[in-house]
Amino acid sequence: MAFAKSLSKLAANVNSESGATLTVDLAAIAANWRELVRRLRSVECGAVVKANAYGLGLEPVTGALARAGCRTFFVADLAEARRARAAARDAVIYVLNGFAAESATAFIETGARPVINAATELAEWEAFAIKHDWRGGAALQVDTGMNRLGISGADAAAIASRAESDNRGIALVMSHLACAEIPDHPLTTAQIRRFGEVRALFPKIPASLANSAGIFLGDAAHCALARPGAALYGLNPTPQRPNPMHNVVELTGRILQLRTVERGDTVGYGATWTAKRTTRLAVAALGYADGIPRAKTGDAAGAHKAYIAGQQCPFAGRISMDLVCLDITDLPEGAARRGDPVTCIGAEIPVDAVAASAGTIGYEILTRLGSRCRVVYRGLRDGNA
Ligand SMILES: *Cc1c(COP(=O)(O)O)cnc(C)c1O
Repeated sequence: MAFAKSLSKLAANVNSESGATLTVDLAAIAANWRELVRRLRSVECGAVVKANAYGLGLEPVTGALARAGCRTFFVADLAEARRARAAARDAVIYVLNGFAAESATAFIETGARPVINAATELAEWEAFAIKHDWRGGAALQVDTGMNRLGISGADAAAIASRAESDNRGIALVMSHLACAEIPDHPLTTAQIRRFGEVRALFPKIPASLANSAGIFLGDAAHCALARPGAALYGLNPTPQRPNPMHNVVELTGRILQLRTVERGDTVGYGATWTAKRTTRLAVAALGYADGIPRAKTGDAAGAHKAYIAGQQCPFAGRISMDLVCLDITDLPEGAARRGDPVTCIGAEIPVDAVAASAGTIGYEILTRLGSRCRVVYRGLRDGNA
């Protein structure tokens, strides 16, 4: 027994069965939520957990945030609403992608609220709510300039008096900012002004405008409820300034093999990388199937690096599906050994930096993590997480 137990403990630590490991720090997510709560002062802070909580696991993330005190969650669709409900029994759950008559009863089953995004949806929702005497509530999204989802300001004005008096109807009026993370963007100013007009139409109904970056725009964007996603997961909501959020994820692989190549030898698919000197390589179990972007990992300027034993190492050649090669020539002899961890996303190489080197945004990197690799949650036993 004791032997089996110690063996399984060992397996969990060295992770010799699987390749890459994604570590998600739930305590850091809860700390990020509390940091946003602090900045919002008396304004409620919800949480956006759509897309499997930005790739990090909808149930554990929702559970951790509910335990931290979050009461309102936003998901994209009903399948996600069911998962969020399982993790947060008493929470308010909004479904961003709206309402469709065919799936209406699922809103009753899950106790979720649709975000009504069009006049036709509103008519269907009202017919449904009257027929079932359903008082679960809904949000009304008004478009203020993003031109994605939401009814027009004119339609909002037309239904305003009805929505205010109907207690089975609208529990939240919301809009979404298109450029919140771009300082002083004129569209942000216009959207805040237009949303002010919308709020005046619905004076008794709580309002919500700010995503993560919107929280950092100050009081004018705060309204009654904020809807952060990205900042909870450690992405920088203020890209022009240092990141005020805690790092949440770490992606590591393990060194499978060390090898030495001679000057002039090439490494990897397409033979795109040529050794300029006798080069020591570490081949690690970590690839694009684990979520590291294949773009910009060569030795060119702007390429992203990995860490071994706390030291930066450049990638040598293309990222394969399951493997990477790292140039460890400049590491001290013996600093990298078979079985040692290689970190390619973490506190030293945040998701935002990896995204920048691959020509994309942190959101895309995050949502692609964890589909193959082993996912480990930290901070689960912390009472605050
Ligand atoms: C995704 C989303 C959010 C969260 O945005 P972040 O930039 O991740 O904070 C908020 N509101 C709506 C409508 C969204 O679609």
